[in-house]
Amino acid sequence: MRLLAATLIFWVTCASGAEPPTHGKRPARLVIRGAMVIEGVGTPVSGPRDILIEGRKIASIAPSNAGRGWSADAEIDGRGKYVLPGFVNLHGHVQDERAGQPMPVDYCLKLWLASGITTVRDVGSDFAKAKAWRAQSQQGALPAPRLLLYRVFSARTPEEARERVRAFQAEGADGIKFLGAYRDVMEAMSDEAARLGLRRAHHAGVEETNALDDIRCKTTSIEHWYGVPDAAFRSGVQGFPPTYNYANELDRFRWAGRLWREADEARLDEVLSGMVKAGVAWDPTFSIYEAARDLDKAANQPYFDAYLHPSLEAFFKPNLSNHGSFYTDWTTDDEVAWKENFRLWMKAVRTFAEKGGIVGTGEDAGFIYRIYGFGYLRELELHQEAGFSPLKVVEHATYNGARILGMENEIGRVRAGWSADLVVVKGNPLENFKILYPDKASGNSGIEWTIKDGIPYNVPQLTAEIRKVVSEARGRK
Ligand SMILES: [Zn+2]
Repeated sequence: MRLLAATLIFWVTCASGAEPPTHGKRPARLVIRGAMVIEGVGTPVSGPRDILIEGRKIASIAPSNAGRGWSADAEIDGRGKYVLPGFVNLHGHVQDERAGQPMPVDYCLKLWLASGITTVRDVGSDFAKAKAWRAQSQQGALPAPRLLLYRVFSARTPEEARERVRAFQAEGADGIKFLGAYRDVMEAMSDEAARLGLRRAHHAGVEETNALDDIRCKTTSIEHWYGVPDAAFRSGVQGFPPTYNYANELDRFRWAGRLWREADEARLDEVLSGMVKAGVAWDPTFSIYEAARDLDKAANQPYFDAYLHPSLEAFFKPNLSNHGSFYTDWTTDDEVAWKENFRLWMKAVRTFAEKGGIVGTGEDAGFIYRIYGFGYLRELELHQEAGFSPLKVVEHATYNGARILGMENEIGRVRAGWSADLVVVKGNPLENFKILYPDKASGNSGIEWTIKDGIPYNVPQLTAEIRKVVSEARGRK
């Protein structure tokens, strides 16, 4: 009889009766029970654990048998599932049109959430619109990741640079994204921005400034990769053919594929050390360049049918006036060169990390056959290809992302006191990152919930909504 009573009490406390959370609605108290936890800082998986979320924050984490007493308004059964911090996408562009054709902003934002992304550093979009989306996301009124807006900067003179930085801050920019800046303009901008506490993301180009300038100006992060190998040229300039035109997208991408091989190894090592010493982080965005090493594969991805919006599809058509749609005449030779380019680039990123450099993950989707979210998750696979263990890759995607944003005490890890930005996955992503893709979110695997700021979003529901948007836009109502 006593045994029966004990069993009964155990059953009652175990199945506390709380229902799964409501999609898009923040419960006062939410418990995830019995999940394996990946903290996000490279430490080993541990579980099963119970996670108590109160409002916007993670309140407590405990081994499952200790957490059972926690009452809650809603409960997620975490058994057989993995919980990790929400991903930080360091290189996003919120887009509501492509190739002059409209596209609901929900499409981009929901795809990000459905991919486990809870924070996006937007490095260039319509600032007025993005500000409204940022506020709505903050209020929980729009299903969207947390948005940080790094405004695209340009100026003609150092004086104008300082003025513009001050104006950006007054208008509510979270940071600055710059490209193609003259050296004196970059120096003035960096100085003024540092004074005001604004972080800087440099889309380095093959131009006047390169990684050596980033080292001197203490740029927060180098986006992509140009600027790193060219800081290590012996001759100071790449061996372009005489007909080369930087403004021609085909020339630009073709010769970019022959850039890493020209970097002097010893000089490159010094550049990488200099970046580490100056605290310049690196967001390589491998995935946005992958089409260059295998164009047909990039152009024919299996999830395009259900997930590619026709406006985005139109933008992806080869067309030298759409940025990145360079493949009007792409050759075997170009692909072979790019494969070697990737190999050298990945080796440099690995060396940079081994020296103590901070590597993050960003996607740059909306260009070159990359769909929002899918492109980001592909980036995780490519970091693994670069030689990082899956646990390290998760660290790049979470804790390192938070560090690059200066938010490492708020987001990017599964820890009490941190923001309740969590991804609940059916299955173990460390065994296979592919299970995270939005088209896998049904049945027995895939992301089940993305929780942002304590708001749970049911991923199968999000993906159904996205597929409906795409199918309606294609006129298949
Ligand atoms: Zn970009």
